[in-house]
Amino acid sequence: MSVLVFIETAEGAVKKSALEATGYAAEIAKKTGSTTIAIVIGTIDAGELDSVGKSGANKILHATDDRLNVPSSQSYATVIAQAAEKENAEVVVLAKSALTDAIGARLAAKLKAGLASNVTELPDLSNGFKVKRSIYTGKAFAVTEMKSAKKILTIKKNVFTPEETGSVAPIEAFTPTLSEAEFAIKVTGEEKASGEISLTEADIVVSGGRGLKGPENWGIIEELAHALHAATGCSKPVSDLGWRPHHEHVGQTGIKVSPNLYIAVGISGAIQHLAGVNSSKVIVVINKDPEAPFFKAADYGIVGDAFDVLPRLTKAVQAA
Ligand code: FAD
Repeated sequence: MSVLVFIETAEGAVKKSALEATGYAAEIAKKTGSTTIAIVIGTIDAGELDSVGKSGANKILHATDDRLNVPSSQSYATVIAQAAEKENAEVVVLAKSALTDAIGARLAAKLKAGLASNVTELPDLSNGFKVKRSIYTGKAFAVTEMKSAKKILTIKKNVFTPEETGSVAPIEAFTPTLSEAEFAIKVTGEEKASGEISLTEADIVVSGGRGLKGPENWGIIEELAHALHAATGCSKPVSDLGWRPHHEHVGQTGIKVSPNLYIAVGISGAIQHLAGVNSSKVIVVINKDPEAPFFKAADYGIVGDAFDVLPRLTKAVQAA
């Protein structure tokens, strides 16, 4: 028996969330006396796989068919299902992302497995297999008992820190059986925001709201983000007004982020915005209105004018 973990990559590098998922899978394997197998799909930079072994994988399967270099939930679900069958995996762990949301559902159908998404803690194995899941966009938790023989878990980002093992896992070539039908959907072009830190992957996010008054004032957000190596985000009205691109819109109807630090500047803290940020580890709010609802969700708050506070904060970070 084994626990299989899918290693999602981006531009040839292993995603941090995939290492969290590997550590998570290794903990389940430890508790159940099984081994942790990682499946990596597509070309990846040399040396990138070392971190997968160090995060707890006992073995790495690597599928390198050129057609798999463009991520697709259809072909990837087939590869992961075949790897799960080969390794007799009872549990498959995926780090939650747009791609794995789509893979998880396909995989559940292929393996006839139960699927629990948005898992936030290690499963309770004392009496069955129970997982705690975040529901209602992070407003509540549900404990779900999984009774199927095979189980698929998508875990939220930033809820699990892998223990560094220092081990190097052996890499085994994996050749799945793939038909042309797996590649029926072809990606013909990609538009990338170059040079920016990905909002969903960032450790720190600096986000601006309507309190910034206009796009011409975004320099103070960008300077702080640059000093902190952070990604930039914004509230919905800001992207609706065209002050910032839509891919920066954070919230219920935008991107959901879970960084270690979320800094909200001139954002009121409406429930729809909070729905996208409430998994952040630490929230800092800067708002000139002491009654702004965001302060209730904040770990730290500064009541002050963004145009006064931000330049001083940036200077302090640069000097540190
Ligand atoms: P405002 O509400 O105008 O708040 C601006 C804030 O800036 C105020 O708190 C003010 O005190 C402060 N401020 C003003 N000047 C300064 C200054 N100089 N220095 C410091 N602070 C200052 N919103 C989202 O963000 N994401 C979503 O995904 C989303 N989805 C939605 C879905 C639905 C169905 C609906 C109905 C709404 C949704 N909204 C969403 C909109 C949401 O309800 C709020 O209207 C929005 O979040 C408010 O944006 P804001 O805080 O930037 O602006």
